[in-house]
Amino acid sequence: MPTAQPATETSVDHGSRPVDATAQPAADRPARRPAPARGARHGRPGGQGQWALGYREPLNPNERMKKDDDGLHVRARIENRYRHTGFDDIDPADLRGRFRWWGLYTQRAPGIDGGRTAVLEPEELEDKYFMMRVRIDGGQLSVDALRTVGEVSAKYARDTADLTDRQNIQLHWVQVQDVPDIWEAIEGVGLTTAEACGDVPRVILGSPLAGVAADEIIDGTPAVHEILRRYIGSEEFSNLPRKFKTAISGSPRHDVAHEIHDIAFVGVVHPERGPGFDLWVGGGLSTNPMLGQRLGAWVPLDEVPDVWAGVISIFRDYGYRRLRNRARLKFLVADWGVEKFREVLESEYLKRPLIDGPAPVDYDGPRDHVGVHPQNDGRLYVGVNPTVGRVTGTLLIKLADLVAAHGSDRIRMTTDQGLVILDVEPDQVDSLVAGLDELGLSVTPSTFRRNMMACTGLEFCKLAIVDTKARGIALVDELENRFGEQAAQLPAITININGCPNACARTQIADIGLKGMIVTNDAGEQVEGFQVHLGGGLGLDAGFGRKVRGHKITGDDVPDYIERVVKSFDAQRHEGERFAQ
Ligand code: SF4
Repeated sequence: MPTAQPATETSVDHGSRPVDATAQPAADRPARRPAPARGARHGRPGGQGQWALGYREPLNPNERMKKDDDGLHVRARIENRYRHTGFDDIDPADLRGRFRWWGLYTQRAPGIDGGRTAVLEPEELEDKYFMMRVRIDGGQLSVDALRTVGEVSAKYARDTADLTDRQNIQLHWVQVQDVPDIWEAIEGVGLTTAEACGDVPRVILGSPLAGVAADEIIDGTPAVHEILRRYIGSEEFSNLPRKFKTAISGSPRHDVAHEIHDIAFVGVVHPERGPGFDLWVGGGLSTNPMLGQRLGAWVPLDEVPDVWAGVISIFRDYGYRRLRNRARLKFLVADWGVEKFREVLESEYLKRPLIDGPAPVDYDGPRDHVGVHPQNDGRLYVGVNPTVGRVTGTLLIKLADLVAAHGSDRIRMTTDQGLVILDVEPDQVDSLVAGLDELGLSVTPSTFRRNMMACTGLEFCKLAIVDTKARGIALVDELENRFGEQAAQLPAITININGCPNACARTQIADIGLKGMIVTNDAGEQVEGFQVHLGGGLGLDAGFGRKVRGHKITGDDVPDYIERVVKSFDAQRHEGERFAQ
């Protein structure tokens, strides 16, 4: 289980490493097993561990840890005990389990190569520092909030900061002694780390252009805020079978990757009832990727929180809890099918039928928001993608100052490791763009700088096999050198670098997806390398990239390989053709 620290965090599968629950008190453990329940599968006592079928006895150490004590309760121990007693006093089940409920993972100790990831014990892989994930629901940040995160990074996190592909910001090198002070700082500007990791409802993704897009169908922000107010940090949903990922976007540009979420609300216009949301369930990547499926239901804005609560309740009650690698909602949806899922949602949870509705209108253009574009109110928004999402606290502070100096107070995180600055008056744009350029944030980047993502990788992640961030940054520079001016003219080609099979940076839906592994080079040595997936994507031709036989390449071969693939595509493509076609 998540002893590791996922950080580009699309869909890390923590199933391989059980949390150490041995140190837990047994006071609240049931004295006897529950009566045999109906629905047992594979003839096992306890079936798949579905609560709704009567299986409440924990079937694995992760479930035991959650039953022994709610993950949210660890905050009090951090504030009252661990901040004073330090790392060595932390209960193992808190350290490698419940800390995640407050966005904290131990990070990988420096100097451990990826070849040893699978053989070392969690405590051998970690050091005494933490990654801290700050959730930014809807991706919405004020200037003050951005500056505060930057200041926290500079003061407590060795100036580290990574923008993730789920609208979070991750800090590294955090010590448990400093965590309460960090909470005080970020909560003072409306941010939180509550349920940023763990078997809980994670950050709610929203369109970066919510409320300002000229072509917006509906603004989902009120629903994001209402779900946060009612349910996040509540024990009602703080013990799920696994993580639960939500996306809500009324943008016709489908800019939240709704196809790969446990639940997604996608803006549509009902022919009689008007704008609302189309409901999707059961998407997710990781090692068993599945695309979400439509339930065929139209949900008005004010009913989104209730429907969300119904779906997550199904997951809590019927989700599989025996095996971590089958505990995501997608497996239940796949087994039940969408008709049964909708029927259970309506009859057992909502107590009313849902309204049938239309599918989202196809969209086949760019989903990102890089560049300068008009808003719906005559002002402009400006989007940048820091290379593979890597920034620093110092840069965030400078960015906050720059944005404030140009009259904006709204920044949005994107779902591809980028940022958008809203509400820029036309006469401020040139100066803002020049200032961004000085910070290394171009509004007209090459396709490589614009479209490359990388997960955390070997630098900090305990599940990693290969380096990703530094490799990605060097790769962008190298490809820009090789392609020269052509790099700015190339069509969008997404390149996603992942440090292991968990696909936090979405290996399977990139044009070129790189999955970290150890490979054998020409000299017969075991070195860092990648399995290549080609031609994945979302949108009209949504599908997972194909593993290409024989396309396991060493890390050193990556620039040559990508150069060959991109040149070949560029030479042969028809006008308007996308890589995945
Ligand atoms: Fe996720 Fe990357 Fe870590 Fe693997 S190495 S778990 S893909 S962050």
